[in-house]
Amino acid sequence: MTEIKRADPPQDVSEYKGIMVYLDSFDGALTRAALEMIGVGRKMADKINETLIGAVIGENTKGMAQEAGMYGCDEVYGFDSKELAMYRSKPFSDILANLVFEKKPNILVVPGSKNGRDLAARIAVKVRSGLTADCMEIDVEPENRILIARRPDYGDSTMSEIRCEKHRPQMATSRPGTFETPVPDSKRKFQVDVREVKLEKNQLKENILSFNRKTEEDITGSKVIVSGGLGMGKPEGLDLIRKLSNLLGGSVGVTRPIADLGWISRDHQVGQTGQIVRPNLYIAAGISGKPQHIVGMMDSKVVVSINKDPDAEMNQFADYIIVGDLYEVIPKLIESIERVTGANPSAA
Ligand SMILES: Cc1cc2nc3c(=O)[nH]c(=O)nc-3n(C[C@H](O)[C@H](O)[C@H](O)COP(=O)(O)OP(=O)(O)OC[C@H]3O[C@@H](n4cnc5c(N)ncnc54)[C@H](O)[C@@H]3O)c2cc1C
Repeated sequence: MTEIKRADPPQDVSEYKGIMVYLDSFDGALTRAALEMIGVGRKMADKINETLIGAVIGENTKGMAQEAGMYGCDEVYGFDSKELAMYRSKPFSDILANLVFEKKPNILVVPGSKNGRDLAARIAVKVRSGLTADCMEIDVEPENRILIARRPDYGDSTMSEIRCEKHRPQMATSRPGTFETPVPDSKRKFQVDVREVKLEKNQLKENILSFNRKTEEDITGSKVIVSGGLGMGKPEGLDLIRKLSNLLGGSVGVTRPIADLGWISRDHQVGQTGQIVRPNLYIAAGISGKPQHIVGMMDSKVVVSINKDPDAEMNQFADYIIVGDLYEVIPKLIESIERVTGANPSAA
């Protein structure tokens, strides 16, 4: 029979101060998701007048730590070892958990990237606290320093607010693209503490033999996205979507059924279980506008919906609605843009 253990008794929460942000990095540079989390942490730290602590782990972290300071951290801890050039679950989680035990932050936010999700769950177990994953809103109540973590629930039909009142640190992750990145300030004052790390043999159980770079583009930072849904009816519809997106210098997005059908890689899927995007222009062609899709693009600045159905849910979120068959509408759009700009996307 499975033994059900009681949770640890409540901690003395008054011992915990400050906000810590884990700084995801890749190829020796902070990721966009790390910068987003600095922005989130900075806003909370200002609200409750506390310190924002950054933690970066890698081969040579000094430059990244300084960058984190310019983006908004007050103190940044770097942990260096050539064995840490790439993410490894065991040493990264040991190092970050030890920093949590040392600094006792009231709140810890972690980018919800693939590595960040792995790391955050491991830290939550090591420090015996809770974790709210994939938050769309992260805030703090100034009167009691309680983290307010809001995330979609029940198939996105509701927004849940999750509070962790008895255990520390209060932890949350957010998917990349959920928040704006802050503006760096080269005149900001901050402290950097870079530490050399000696790893034990038992921390290096994975042996990294080779590393394959992903060739798919990352659509989370795209300024223009043209997305196609099941209304395309056939995989060739994506050629039209791609042609329009090339012409506008953008990226291709899709709904989940299109990725499920294997017409394009999952990296292009926008939504709850795909990418969170916030482009200046989002064109949704043949997309009904189900909540699981909307949650991934609702922060787009201008939304255009192309749909045969005048009552499509997508239209409620659109700034411009074109009612019609995408196979008639998109070629006309392409033609007009080419006429105005003199561009030839097929040459792109
Ligand atoms: C747990 C969970 C997670 C999910 N995560 C995601 C996610 O991350 N992303 C996501 O997108 N979905 C996700 N979904 C699926 C989601 O619920 C919807 O099923 C999906 O978004 C619908 O895709 P669609 O709009 O392409 O297709 P449909 O809902 O079938 O809509 C097709 C639209 O095309 C229009 N149309 C048809 N022909 C044409 C034409 N020729 N020209 C113009 N318009 C036309 C129709 O009027 C219709 O509005 C998730 C579902 C679950 C349960």
